[in-house]
Amino acid sequence: MPSTTTATAVPSSPRRRFALWVALLALLAVAQSLLVVLTLSYENSRAQQEADDVATDAATRLRQSLLRPLPQLQAMAVGLEGAPSVADLFQTHRALRRLEWRAGDRTLRQIQDSPWGPPPFAVLGRDQLALAVDDACSAAQRDESPAYSRSYYAPLPGGTGQELLDLCLPIPAGIRSQGDAPSWLVATIALAPLLEQAAAEPALARHELQLVGGDGARLARAGSRRGAGTYLGEQRIDLPGSALLLRTNSAAGRPSLIPHLNTALVIGLSLLLFAVAGLLARDTRRRAAAERALADELAFRQAMESSLITGLRARDLDGRVTYANAAFCRMVGIDAESLQSTPADAPPPYWPPEHAAEYQARQAERRRAGVPRESSALGFESVFMRADGERFPVMIYDAPLVDGSGHHRGWMSAVLDMSAQRRAEELSRQQQERLQAGARLAAVGEMASLLSHELNQPLAAIASYASGCLNLVEPQPGIDRPSAGPSPAGSATVTVPVSAAQLRPALERIAEQAERAGRVIRSVHSLVARRRPAEPQTLACAQLVEAVLPLVRMQARKCGARIEIALPEPSQRPLHVSGDRTMLEQVLLNLSRNALQAMDDPSVPSERRVLRWRIDTDAANPERIEWACIDGGLGLPPDFDRQRAQAFFTTKPEGMGLGLSLCRTVLEQHGSQLHGEPAVPGPGAMFRFSLARAPGPGSEAGVAASPRTIGSP
Ligand code: ADP
Repeated sequence: MPSTTTATAVPSSPRRRFALWVALLALLAVAQSLLVVLTLSYENSRAQQEADDVATDAATRLRQSLLRPLPQLQAMAVGLEGAPSVADLFQTHRALRRLEWRAGDRTLRQIQDSPWGPPPFAVLGRDQLALAVDDACSAAQRDESPAYSRSYYAPLPGGTGQELLDLCLPIPAGIRSQGDAPSWLVATIALAPLLEQAAAEPALARHELQLVGGDGARLARAGSRRGAGTYLGEQRIDLPGSALLLRTNSAAGRPSLIPHLNTALVIGLSLLLFAVAGLLARDTRRRAAAERALADELAFRQAMESSLITGLRARDLDGRVTYANAAFCRMVGIDAESLQSTPADAPPPYWPPEHAAEYQARQAERRRAGVPRESSALGFESVFMRADGERFPVMIYDAPLVDGSGHHRGWMSAVLDMSAQRRAEELSRQQQERLQAGARLAAVGEMASLLSHELNQPLAAIASYASGCLNLVEPQPGIDRPSAGPSPAGSATVTVPVSAAQLRPALERIAEQAERAGRVIRSVHSLVARRRPAEPQTLACAQLVEAVLPLVRMQARKCGARIEIALPEPSQRPLHVSGDRTMLEQVLLNLSRNALQAMDDPSVPSERRVLRWRIDTDAANPERIEWACIDGGLGLPPDFDRQRAQAFFTTKPEGMGLGLSLCRTVLEQHGSQLHGEPAVPGPGAMFRFSLARAPGPGSEAGVAASPRTIGSP
C-alpha cells in the first residue's frame, strides 16, 4: 500500500505524441502506396510477360503451319513416290490457295486453285500480283532452295480481300525429265486461315493475333476478341527468303485497383491497418485521458491526505503498520518508512512502554474477535508516545479492512490527537472556577452596596430617635417640660427629670428600626445570595404602608411635603398581596424616598410637594393590585427609559443608582414590573407596579380606607 510517497506520472508532451503519430501514419501511407504500386507493377509485368509468351507461342505455331506443307510440296515437285496428290494436298492444307507450275522463265505452265477457298486471283490477275513471287523465285534460284515471298494483298470479289504468301520451290534440273518440264512449283498460301488456326488454341483465346507488315500496317487479324492495346507482344517469324511480324494484343486492360484479388486484398488489409491504427489512436487517447484523470485523482487524494488533520493508520492482522498518513506521522513524530519497517514482533514505536502489554492484549483480543457484525462509530481513548517521549491522549476509531474479495486484511484507524482538547478543557475549567469566584465576589459587592443603601434609612431613623432621647435626657436651655412644671425665671438651663413613659416610644422606635435593619440584612442576603425572596407571606396592603410610614414621614417633614395614601373603602374587600414583607417595604421606601427627593428642590412650590400612594384593584385584572407612587417633583430625567437600563444610573450628586434597580429586582421576583412615567396631570413622576392579590386572612381593620393626608410641613 502506498504511504506518503509521491506518485509521479510521466507526462508525454502532446506535440511529441502528435509528431510520432504523424510519422507513423506517413510511414503507413508510404508503405501501403508502395505495396499497391508494386502489386500493380507486378500485375503489369506479369500480363506483359504473358503477352510475350503468347506471341512466341503463336509465332512458333504459325511458322510451323507455314513450313508444314513444304516437305510434301518438295516431294510433289521432285515427283517422289508417295507424294500426295494435288487434291490431297489442298484438303490437308486448307490455307493453300493455288499451285502453279512455271517454266524456267517463270511463265505459267499449269495452275490448280484450291476448292477449299476462293480463287485468289479472281479480281486482279496473277500478272498484276506477280512481283512478290518473282522476288521469291529469284531468291530460291540464288539459294537453290525453296523461298517464301513477302505477303501481298489480293482483293476478292465482294470488296473483301486476303493476304497471301507465295512459296517458290525450284525443281532441280536432274529431276526434270523433259526439256519443257516446269522448273518451278509455286504454292500460294492464304495467311488468314493459318492465323485463325493459331488463334483457336485455348492458350491464345484471350488474345488478338495480327500479322503486321514492315511499315507497321496490319495485314491480317484473328482471334475472337479485340485486343485492349495495353499488353502487346511482337515476334518475328523467320521463313526461308522472307519474314513476317506477328503481334499479339491481349484483351486484358490495365489491372484496376479493386477487381483484382491481390490488389483487393492489399487494399482491404491497408484499410484494416488504418482502422486498427485509428482504434489504436483512440485507445491511446482514452488511455492518456484515463491516466490524466487518474493522476488528477491521485494528486487530489494526496492533497486531501496531506491536509487531513486526522491521523490515518492501517495495520495488518499482525498489528504491523502498513500505511500511515502525514497527519499520523506528524502526530507521533515518526516517518512512515520507520513505522512500516518496525518488525512484527516488536511493539510500534508510538506505544508507551508502560502500556505496551495492555495494548498487545487489546490487539490480540481484537484479532480473536475478527470483523464485528455491525460497524461501530464509537472510538476509545488511549495514550500514544511521540518520538521525544512525550505521552499524549488520543481518540481512536477502528474499522476492519476488508478487501474486494471479502477477506479481512487488517484494521484501519482514525486517530485524533486529544492534547489540544484536553488543554482547552483544563483552561475552560480554570476559567469556570475563576468566573464562579468572580461571581461570588460580585455578589458580596452587590450585597455590601445594597446593605449600605438600604440600611441608611433604619440607621438614620435610629440616629434620629437616639438624638431625640438624648434631647429628652439632657437639660436644654429654655425648654419647658410638661411634667416638670414652670421653669424658674432667669434660669438659662433647666434640668428636668425625664419619665420612662416619655422615653419609651422613642426607645421602642429605636428597637423597631434596629430589628428592621436586621431584617433588611437577611432579606438582602437572601435576595443576592439565593436570587429569590424569602418565604412569601400574605400581607395586608395597609399594613405594608403603615410599616414604612414613620420613616417616610420623617423624610417628608424635612422637605416640607405632605403624604396622601389612597386605599379602597373599608366596606370593600380588603386588599392582600403575597410576598416578602421586608423587601416590599424596601420598594415602597425607595420609591417614596425618590419621590420626596424629586420634590426637595427650591424650584418646586410647596403646594406641589405632595407624595401620593394609590393602592387599588387593577382595573384590567381584578386578580392584581396596582400600586402607584405619584409626586409633583421635577419629573423624570430626559431619556429616562433608555438610561435606567444601565447599571448604577443616577442624576443625583450623592446617588448610588441602586434604588430603582433593587425595586425592579424585587418586583421581578414577585412576578411584576416597575413602570416609570410622567405624572398625570404633571409636572412630576409616577412609578407603578402590580402585585398578585392574595386571599387575606381577615379584614383590614384599623387602616384608614378613604384617602387621607398624612404628614404636613
Ligand atoms: P438614586 O436615588 O441613588 O439616584 P435610583 O435608582 O433610586 O438611584 O434613581 C435613579 C434615578 O432615577 C434618579 O437619579 C433620578 O434621576 C431618577 N428618579 C427616580 N425616581 C424619580 C422621581 N420620582 N422623580 C424624578 N426622577 C426620579
